[in-house]
Amino acid sequence: RAAEPTSSSATALQVLQRIFGYDSFRGDQQEIVEHVIGGGDALVLMPTGGGKSLCYQIPALVRPGTGVVVSPLIALMQDQVDALNELGVRAGFLNSTQSYEQRRATEAAFRAGELDLLYLAPERLRLDSTTVLLDRGEVSLFAIDEAHCVAQWGHDFRPDYLALSVLHERWPAVPRIALTATATPATRQEIATRLELTGARHFVADFDRPNIQYRIVPKNDPRKQLLQLLRTEHAGDSGIVYRLSRSEVERTAEFLVNNGIPALPYHAGLDKEVRAAHQSRFLREDGLVMVATIAFGMGIDKPDVRFVAHLDLPKSVEGYYQETGRAGRDGLPSTAWMAYGLQDVVQQRKLIELSEGDEAHRRTQSRHLDAMLALCETVECRRVRLLAYFGQEATACGNCDTCLAPPKSWDGTVAAQKLLSTVVRLDRERNQKFGAGQIIDILRGKKTAKVAQFRHDALSVFGVGADLSDHEWRGVIRQLLAQRLLAVEGDYGTLVLTESSKEVLRRENPRQVLLRTDTARAGSPREKATK
Ligand code: ADP
Repeated sequence: RAAEPTSSSATALQVLQRIFGYDSFRGDQQEIVEHVIGGGDALVLMPTGGGKSLCYQIPALVRPGTGVVVSPLIALMQDQVDALNELGVRAGFLNSTQSYEQRRATEAAFRAGELDLLYLAPERLRLDSTTVLLDRGEVSLFAIDEAHCVAQWGHDFRPDYLALSVLHERWPAVPRIALTATATPATRQEIATRLELTGARHFVADFDRPNIQYRIVPKNDPRKQLLQLLRTEHAGDSGIVYRLSRSEVERTAEFLVNNGIPALPYHAGLDKEVRAAHQSRFLREDGLVMVATIAFGMGIDKPDVRFVAHLDLPKSVEGYYQETGRAGRDGLPSTAWMAYGLQDVVQQRKLIELSEGDEAHRRTQSRHLDAMLALCETVECRRVRLLAYFGQEATACGNCDTCLAPPKSWDGTVAAQKLLSTVVRLDRERNQKFGAGQIIDILRGKKTAKVAQFRHDALSVFGVGADLSDHEWRGVIRQLLAQRLLAVEGDYGTLVLTESSKEVLRRENPRQVLLRTDTARAGSPREKATK
């Protein structure tokens, strides 16, 4: 549906200035706001911190009726509504955390036309009572926040979002605006289709966050590496540290505190009160480090987060981008730092293999992981790779680790052949499979107890890889896994060949394997060994 011409600009600007206290619109905001005020549908892609909220809040204030906002961020609704009330905007919410009386009061206010904005949890729309309610009041627009949650094979799928197609069917005349910070061109298409937003205008913002410096380093001793980063570059700064497991969250927070850095844990296993208390301390206080699982961060608006550190590999580029995007919302220089190693690849592949869901789901997860690994292993500009993932072209940024210290690559074909043929021999001659540790010991010719036990020193490949260190071999394995020239299997992470491994092992014209040289850094096992 096309927007009707309106003279809404003056009104929209007045609302921006008088109610929200800002001088001017940012980026595409004005165009989006006018389009929606005019009754047009919109799909808005804007990075975290870009200012999506005003895109529906202002039209909701200008158009007659109540703007209905569907949001999965139930924990934040109270805060959002409080903040709006403070500005004099009449806002309310309906979700499962409320008492019956609170809900009744909000519903009555909506019916009486006394609300500018009504926030709804998506599961509410499955209830007949909600549809009946919405029919009894006047809806000015539907805003669908975090719209990527409708993408079935996206990284954040919520089944309740599928029910949102009812909005268009039941209230075809009400404009809809879907917003998200994370969407590849494919996900964008899926959002448009599933929400029946086919006629909507797309507003795609610049996804680049030039003030964020992206760095990905080999993982040796992640907690120590983190400590060094904080001490040398981010002393006294606020930041977020992401870990995969709850126990690592606890341990890492404790480690930082023991080393004199104020830190708090946050994960879904903590009591609701504890989580809320930690979150509000993080928002209020300066120089606090939040160590968290990905349960933390959606909707968090703290402008001066100076660093986001990942100590484990995220599952997808979309997740990584969203998490790192919480750094530097104020536009000042900030760091997105990640330590990543062989064990991350093994673990993530294993998680996918063991995950519930069908084959198609596993394939999607694998695709996400492959894209993430490609970003980790690239020798090109990180920003170029990252933006390309979101369908945006860019030139080398000069402000990421690969631009600042271009990594060298080396021809790892022979190393890969040695490694792959060790895996082949163990399998063919002994009918055995082993994990990375034992394979490396064989390659390096180490006479360990386990080597003696299995008589692996009798293999013809024993010691053929003595020219590389343990650390270097781990880098080789990690990269072969990333390039799918090697795979892991089962609970113990045993190494097995893939279809493509054969191309490397071919006698004639073997496939060339280009590997990235891992730069040794302070605290790496290699440096310690030579001291
Ligand atoms: P998003 O939802 O895209 O992550 P928000 O809507 O929460 O972003 O906005 C991020 C921050 O930017 C908020 O603090 C908001 O008040 C501020 N902001 C948004 N638009 C403007 C503007 N036009 N001028 C100044 N500040 C703005």
